[in-house]
Amino acid sequence: MKAITNMDARKKISLVAPFYNEESNVRPFLQQVHAALAPVLGTYDLEIICVNDGSRDGTLEALREAREHHPQVKVIDFSRNFGKEAAITAGLDFATGDAVIPIDSDLQHPPELILEMLAHWESGFEVVLARRTSRETDQALQRLTARAFYEVSRYISHIEIPADVGDYRLMDRKVVDALKALQEKCRFMKGLFAWVGFRTTVVNYRVVPRVHGKSSFNTWKLWNFALEGITSFSTLPLRVWTYLGGLVSLGAFVYAAYLIVKTLVFGVEVPGYASLMIVILLASGVQLIGIGILGEYLGRVFTEVKNRPVYIVREVIGP
Ligand code: UDP
Ligand code: MG
Repeated sequence: MKAITNMDARKKISLVAPFYNEESNVRPFLQQVHAALAPVLGTYDLEIICVNDGSRDGTLEALREAREHHPQVKVIDFSRNFGKEAAITAGLDFATGDAVIPIDSDLQHPPELILEMLAHWESGFEVVLARRTSRETDQALQRLTARAFYEVSRYISHIEIPADVGDYRLMDRKVVDALKALQEKCRFMKGLFAWVGFRTTVVNYRVVPRVHGKSSFNTWKLWNFALEGITSFSTLPLRVWTYLGGLVSLGAFVYAAYLIVKTLVFGVEVPGYASLMIVILLASGVQLIGIGILGEYLGRVFTEVKNRPVYIVREVIGP
């Protein structure tokens, strides 16, 4: 009788791994995960949700094959590439575990860390963040812009996105359910994770360089990613134009007063081309930036009201 209640009480861990053109990483990833989790497989049930995010290589075939050796693997095959954020969203939707852990499939997130995360979870934390202690695998420029992003977002949004923390984390079922209730279509997961809150602790790890395949994030993608992060979690860029407009108007008013007085005192003076041009260029430049930022937000409102699904699943392979 006792054995049965124990069986029922077994907790389940769900790993969520997004795969985009990672055929050479499928086997090593699953092997490494199994080796790392071997000590706790007697205690917990395990499921590995592998989301194939529209890979163009043999990732899907490799995942199908891997299922023969790893029955815990469940494959969610997307109809096309929807991006990592969508892949993680899908993984969270399909995960049934008491704790859910999104983890990169390129072996840059060491699975050994999961044991440490589980220990914190068992001691009552609902979120265990994995923080990278170094950015040595990033280029200098990337390091600089990452730092700038965290600084800027800290100042202009009400939620604090912890620095150097990615998607690699453990989340309790409560946290996952809270995330699933957020219906927005522009999904900046880092921000959403931070927004839901919960009792949180941190474990540290070193990022290892990618062994197989290559990163699919280039500078342009990262810039858009940062833009998404800022606009999803702050309306300051929108509101700042009221004040900037006020300031420019005030400047214009003062300058106009000066010109009137000058004309009254010294009479009409023709040369004024330079000052005129400067004012026109400055004012129109400021206006264009303002319109651009309006456009950024409007575009996102457009995306939200269309209410399209975040991802489309072609096939679910597995139990
Ligand atoms: N990924 C994805 N869809 C994409 C791009 C990436 O599912 O459109 C996955 C990829 O397979 C990997 C993870 O997201 O498991 C991180 O991607 P990558 O290694 O390219 O990013 P980096 O580690 O350089 O930030
Ligand atoms: Mg990577």
